[in-house]
Amino acid sequence: MTRDVAIEVEVDEARCMAIGNCVLSAPAVFDQSEEEGTVVLLDATPPADEHDRVREAASLCPASVISLHRTASGDQPRVTAGERRTDNGGSHG
Ligand code: SF4
Repeated sequence: MTRDVAIEVEVDEARCMAIGNCVLSAPAVFDQSEEEGTVVLLDATPPADEHDRVREAASLCPASVISLHRTASGDQPRVTAGERRTDNGGSHG
């Protein structure tokens, strides 16, 4: 059984400095408006193969405009703060 973890992306356009790091990091998820150059969110729930790029974009944004929210899809939508999943594949007992 696989539990998918989705990322929900949120941007605060009002704080965007139009630098464009996010577009360089994840062009499938972020764009810039032609008028002001501020961030345009193309995909608020990007697929798993974009997650690393989205995380990079969020970490490189100089204005901390990009927020990421982890949501678990499937039958356990609740994520408990402080709970960490380890996917090391090993068994322990
Ligand atoms: S990296 Fe941040 S400041 Fe630059 S365009 Fe993207 S959201 Fe705006």
